[in-house]
Amino acid sequence: MSQKNYDVIVIGAGFAGVTAARELSQKGHKVLVIEAEDRLGGRTWYDQRLGRGLEIGGTWVHWSQPHVWAEISRYNLETTESPTPEKTFWFADGKLQEGDGEALLKVLDRGMNKVVEDARKYFSKPYEPLREIEALKEVDHISIADKLRSLDLTKEEFDANYSMWAVNFHGSPETAALTHAYRWVALTNYDWQYNFESCATYKLKNGTKELIEKIANDSKAEFQFSKPVSQVEKVDDEYRVITKSGEEFYASAVIVTLPINILNTIKFTPELSEQKQAFSKEGQNSTGVKYWARVRGQRKPFIAMAPADSPADFPINFIQYEYNIDEDSIYVGFGPDHKYLDPENREEVERALRKIIPDVEVVESAGYDWSGGEFSGQTWPMYRTNQLTKYFAELQRPEEGIFYGGGDGANGWLGFIDGAIENALRTSKLVDQYITKGSNSLSV
Ligand SMILES: Cc1cc2nc3c(=O)[nH]c(=O)nc-3n(C[C@H](O)[C@H](O)[C@H](O)COP(=O)(O)OP(=O)(O)OC[C@H]3O[C@@H](n4cnc5c(N)ncnc54)[C@H](O)[C@@H]3O)c2cc1C
Repeated sequence: MSQKNYDVIVIGAGFAGVTAARELSQKGHKVLVIEAEDRLGGRTWYDQRLGRGLEIGGTWVHWSQPHVWAEISRYNLETTESPTPEKTFWFADGKLQEGDGEALLKVLDRGMNKVVEDARKYFSKPYEPLREIEALKEVDHISIADKLRSLDLTKEEFDANYSMWAVNFHGSPETAALTHAYRWVALTNYDWQYNFESCATYKLKNGTKELIEKIANDSKAEFQFSKPVSQVEKVDDEYRVITKSGEEFYASAVIVTLPINILNTIKFTPELSEQKQAFSKEGQNSTGVKYWARVRGQRKPFIAMAPADSPADFPINFIQYEYNIDEDSIYVGFGPDHKYLDPENREEVERALRKIIPDVEVVESAGYDWSGGEFSGQTWPMYRTNQLTKYFAELQRPEEGIFYGGGDGANGWLGFIDGAIENALRTSKLVDQYITKGSNSLSV
């Protein structure tokens, strides 16, 4: 068995792991990144599908997201826009409604504003999410669905808002924390429409792959792929990291970047704190699915939303026209529960889309089951009720030389590429201090 020594071992080569590797190796530390899959990117994956490059996972970026935008500037990368919708569609009384590009926003606007109206009270400084911890504890049990039901919305407004929040949380609004919605909208000056623009408009022209490769190439770290880690053990004053195939590596500190839902798939000795384990066991809110569909005929840009309260009836609740290709169009979208849609099954995707667009003909579909994936277990993390006040501080707290550095523990754009970079930057600083000064709390 091989035995190798490093200053830091980073588990996972998504945006968080690669950023941490760059920061620490540039400081002169000997860094190893161990990745389960055979590629960089984690929950981002720019791949050739349906006749062109497509983002199978994380996609949109925005200048309101400071950490990812700083990287885009640093590497001088180009962004491109998703098309502005000319038409929008939504359901009212079981019937599909149609309007211009702004019409759906108008149906959503009153409810969306009411849902987040108290955001500033709890998140006056968005990058200090626990600043009002005592006040937050009073409201952290409220779900988005509870809040929507407490408002005087028409049925049409309620259904559209419910579906919009199911897209935002990529799962059920029944378990989605209202505090997380506050936290989110606080990042875009408490303005939900600006938030929507930030989350679904601009993408990297050559894909997320180009950005992550630039960051990786800027690091002096060693990368090893196709090596799932199964155990991390403290041995004297070092950590032994053991892969599924039994390879062993040693380091003074370990950065773990696994998504929350699969954190428990690695056995830690000594065990991680009870709260970290409980968070992983409970899982955060995203259970959804993202699909791509190449459909017959060239269409005009549109957005369509369908009810999200019964994924068995509507496995897809969001469709966005994204590209024209030859004589076809390419749509992208989401469903609230991955159990009801296999995005790679053409017939299933066509059946689900036909609930909204009856005559649509799907030529081919694409996607990946992130929520069911062995090395993902979820899509973008959105906290459930009570998780912010119960688990968040603990997730960020290092346990001696074990640090949680994944994007799921970010202060700001948690759940985004930006959050992965942000948490990696903060965690790298902590790790550097731990290695050089023997302390794992930040001192200025
Ligand atoms: C469908 C989808 C759509 C999204 N849309 C957007 C978007 O539009 N904009 C945006 O900013 N963000 C979006 N996100 C979220 C964004 O992609 C993630 O928040 C971000 O990429 C997380 O990065 P990370 O490094 O923290 O985690 P990850 O990317 O999950 O990295 C963790 C890495 O650990 C590896 N790993 C897991 N287990 C092991 C193990 N046992 N041993 C070794 N390695 C292991 C994984 O393979 C993975 O590479 C989306 C995500 C998904 C899935």
